[in-house]
Amino acid sequence: MIRVQAVAPETLGAALRLPPGTELIAINDRDLEDFLDWEFLTADDHFTLRAKLPSGEDVEYDIERPEGMPMGVTLEPPRIRRCANHCDFCFVDGNPQGMRQVLYIRDDDYRLSFRYGTFATLTNLKPWDLERIVEYRLSPLYVSVHATDPIVRRWLLRNPEAPDVIPQLRWFAERGITFHTQIVLVPGVNDGAQLVRTLSDLYGLGESVLSVSVVPVALTEFSKHALVRQPTRDECRAALEIVDQFAARAVADRGMPWCYGADDLYLQADLSLPPAEWYGDFEQRENGVGSVRYLQTRIAAARPALAQEQVVADLEAATGAHFEILALENALFGKTVTTAGLLPGKAVLEALRERRDLDLALLPAESVNDNLLFMDDVEAHELAAQLPMPVRLSYDFADALEEGLDGWKVGRSTPSNIPTVQPSE
Ligand code: SF4
Repeated sequence: MIRVQAVAPETLGAALRLPPGTELIAINDRDLEDFLDWEFLTADDHFTLRAKLPSGEDVEYDIERPEGMPMGVTLEPPRIRRCANHCDFCFVDGNPQGMRQVLYIRDDDYRLSFRYGTFATLTNLKPWDLERIVEYRLSPLYVSVHATDPIVRRWLLRNPEAPDVIPQLRWFAERGITFHTQIVLVPGVNDGAQLVRTLSDLYGLGESVLSVSVVPVALTEFSKHALVRQPTRDECRAALEIVDQFAARAVADRGMPWCYGADDLYLQADLSLPPAEWYGDFEQRENGVGSVRYLQTRIAAARPALAQEQVVADLEAATGAHFEILALENALFGKTVTTAGLLPGKAVLEALRERRDLDLALLPAESVNDNLLFMDDVEAHELAAQLPMPVRLSYDFADALEEGLDGWKVGRSTPSNIPTVQPSE
């Protein structure tokens, strides 16, 4: 069952007067299970909609969509599909107490994989899910493979019921579904010969596997260290040698590397990252694959005069302003966790609350969710209210620079297309 949360003005939803709380029951007599049904079944120009208004009244609409008019209906958030696995390296186990509740949910949801590019294991699919993926052409999907040896994969996922992934992917591939895949590298389990086997099996599925990333397992102070450990520098190097072999083969056969080491794999191996061109369209950037080179590319594109290195020095030369990069320690997850997406608001507060010498603070925009909440449930406006300087959320400096440099010289401009956080009243 799905429900209306909001309706945008001047849309079909507004014309139908669908109030928030309306239950959307069926389209063309087909029951609606979730947002996918809603989006795909309302794509036609003509359909019937059965709904129940918040007053309890049952209504049926016979809808002819005027050309180009959007539905404009925002649905209440979907119930997230829970995970059937119990990986030793699960990020949920690595979460400390006191964060947003949603961060304790082990989700494994092919619908979110299609929509947002989150990785799913496909171990909890029902027969009707398989049909839906094919019928709605949910492609590409992002799949956590980890290992193609069924025994090793079940061990990694701690799920004796996990299906054999290669036949599963092949079944989908034969029906036109494509995949981006990842292998979370757990030393002593799926590295070495197992990694070679996994990459060989995935390569053998042909062009339906669009890419594969090899990501070193990421642990926090709270992870199950008795059961899993991070790879050593030499283990990361050995994995990269295998990645390079497959990438070289793919470049020769397919004209693109196909197989990528995550940025963290290079960093932990103490090796330099490949150039930006290596990553093509940066399709696994959100998974930490090529994200450093992507950032550099964005900065360089915003201001061609800026070199890709020495970003701060060039920003200073270009703007006349003085920039200072503050390295914050992640008090929530521990100092080994350095990704901006896991930065708690309290760490920002501690670092900035006495800095009356600063005219402006740029915070990584990845640190907050759509509701402007940091990992530790601190809200960005509330944070800003406690700081002595204006705060702006920025993805890459370049979003700030795109508004022009003049304002930066006087330090007063407020670019309009950048999320700006003002203290709440
Ligand atoms: S698949 Fe593993 S890592 Fe992902 S949510 Fe489930 S248990 Fe956690």
